[in-house]
Order: sequence, then C-alpha cells, then structure tokens
Amino acid sequence: MENFKMTHPKPRMNNQIPGFFFADPALIQKTLLHWYNTHHRHLPWREGCDPYRIWVSEVMLQQTQVKTAVPYFLAFVARFPTLGDLARADLEQVLKSWEGLGYYARARNLHKAARQVVHQMEGRIPERFSDFKALPGVGDYIASAVMSMAFNQIHAVVDANVKRVLARLLCLDIPVNQSSVHNRFKAIADTLVDRTDPGGFNQAFMELGALVCTPAAPDCGSCPLAHSCLALAESRVSAFPLRLKPKKIPCHRISTGIVIKEGNLLVTRRKLDGLLGGLWEFPGGKRKNKESAEDACIREIKEETGLDVRIVSFLTHVRHAYTHFKIEMDVFYCDYISGDVVLNGPIDHQWIAHENIHRLAFPTANRKFIPLIDPSEKNPGIKPA
Ligand code: SF4
Repeated sequence: MENFKMTHPKPRMNNQIPGFFFADPALIQKTLLHWYNTHHRHLPWREGCDPYRIWVSEVMLQQTQVKTAVPYFLAFVARFPTLGDLARADLEQVLKSWEGLGYYARARNLHKAARQVVHQMEGRIPERFSDFKALPGVGDYIASAVMSMAFNQIHAVVDANVKRVLARLLCLDIPVNQSSVHNRFKAIADTLVDRTDPGGFNQAFMELGALVCTPAAPDCGSCPLAHSCLALAESRVSAFPLRLKPKKIPCHRISTGIVIKEGNLLVTRRKLDGLLGGLWEFPGGKRKNKESAEDACIREIKEETGLDVRIVSFLTHVRHAYTHFKIEMDVFYCDYISGDVVLNGPIDHQWIAHENIHRLAFPTANRKFIPLIDPSEKNPGIKPA
C-alpha cells in the first residue's frame, strides 16, 4: 500500500460542488468508461439494450450474485422471451422458473408489472422514470438501472458495489449498511454519473466494485481510479467502507411433516403475499417452548390443514438461513389418520404423487429434503435430540 501512496498524490478537493469532493469528475468518468470497454465481463443481459432483458436481469441481481443469476436469467428469457410472454404466463410457471433464487416477491412483482404494462400501457415499457418506478417491485435502483441502460437517461444507480467504491474514493464515514443514509450515497452518485453515457457509466462503476474494488481485497494496483482515490492516498483503504454491526439473527425451530395418504403426499400453498408467497411446501411450523419436535409437527398439521396424523419416522434435519432469521427444521414421515382438509393459513393444497413433486415450486429449505423422500419406505432415521 505504501508504494501506491508514493505514486498517487492526494487528490485535490473540488470546492465547486458543495458538500462533495471529487477532484475531477470528468477524469473519473473518462477513465472508468475506458477501463470498462476493455475489462467488462460478457454477460447475457449486456447484449443489446432491450429494456425487458435489462429489467429481468436487474430484478434478479438485486439479491443474487452474478454467477448464480446467469443460468436463471438464460432459462427465464428462454421460457419468457418477451414481456408479453411473461404477462401471459401463470404465476405458477413464473415461480417455478424462479425456484431456488429466493426473494420470491421479486418474481411475483415482475409478473404483476408485466401484466400491468401489457394491459394498461399497450405493452410498451414506460420510458418516463416516474411511470416505470410506479410499477410493482420497481424501486429507485431498478428504475435508475433500466432508464439509464435501456434509454440512456441520466440516473445514477446505487448498489452495494457503488456504495463501497464511493466510500473509498471519498473516505466517506457513512455506514454503507444503514438504510437511512442511502439517499446521501445517491446524491453523491448523481453528481458523478456521466451525462453522455449514463448507462455505460453505471455498469462500469458497479463492475469496478465487483472486479477491482472488492470488499475484502481491493486491487488498488490495477484500479483505473487510483489517481482519484482519497482512501488510497491516505493509506486508509482498509478503513472503508464503514459498517454498522449487524444484528444477531434469531433461529426458529421448525417441524415439518410429509403426510402420506394412499401413496400421495400432502403439500400446501403459501399465501401470495409475504415471505415465500405463492410457493408450495410440506405442512408444518414453529415449535413452541418445551414442545417436542414430533408434537409440534402433529399440532401444526392439525392447525394448518385440520388433519389428524401420526408420526411414523424421522427423515432428516435441515438448516437454512434467510436474510433476517435462520431455521433448524426436523422433517418427519406422517401417516394420515382422519379428517378432511380445512385450510387455515395456506391458500391451496394437493395430494400429489411423489413423481410429480418436481412440477411445483418449493422454497429452498424444502428442496433440501425433497430428494430424500421415499414414500414407499418411510425409512426411520436418527431421531432429533
Ligand atoms: S484505488 Fe483501491 S480503494 Fe480506491 S477505488 Fe481503486 S480499488 Fe478501490
């Protein structure tokens, strides 16, 4: 790091932009765009500027890493090549295409927005920022990304990569994971975005964060913005970005039952809104204090479906982490005893043949044990502690 300090003099402050301190925004824009032209990754949504493909990609990329998103994106646009195709599809098909990506509200909103564009806007994705931002699931980030990349409009995008690079370029002592300061990063980014190629600049800025100015090991030696970086000039790169200490996330103990009746398995569908909305799952729920996993399984199935079941054997234990909590789940084979299905919570149910399970979209926590299910054996496993 000391070598860089020697070769890159401290950037000058720019007092012509009140409150912000880019030494030379034009130099940053030019250098960054030049670097991007030769160093960017070839990603499928970067071929052309079809607003639909850009929109789909940005929705996926909001909570998902690029390498994970690429195969999902390719499969999604192969199945729904146009906005019209997406609007005509059933939500069930869309959720199936999204299965495993998580944050299913993204898929539900994208589907709803596609239908809105087709039915209320003659199928044309709106080019006015405020109209586009009014669509379901479209916030400032998606709107800025699509408007700048597809329609060359001047809007800066601010994601985690952009915040980190800005924090280092300017030695910003603003925590990047505090949602209340997002607008400050946005205001700073808006002063920097290139006026003639805002879409290219936005992609370049994010790409720099993804490839060079990475969280743990920024490669300042090959950074095109080293000449303008305050953190580097002050040998304080490792001090940025600032982060608030994350809160400890709770862990819920869950019991889940694979209820078998005449060889078919009971699955229920979650409400359309909320976490994992619209997905199918095996019934179950949270254990109460001092309740055994088996008792919780029987009680939850009774409460959710009205059925009386008995535990036959233990299948497996599953761990899964969501953003704000994690779960530890015990999964049991259960025999149906009596009752008709009366749903309390779920919006639908099916008694499904084992070989047809793959047709439905399940949350990842369920997909972790689905391959182990063998309804013919109900093989006893190791009982949970
Ligand atoms: S010089 Fe280093 S810290 Fe500064 S922007 Fe480049 S990679 Fe990030």
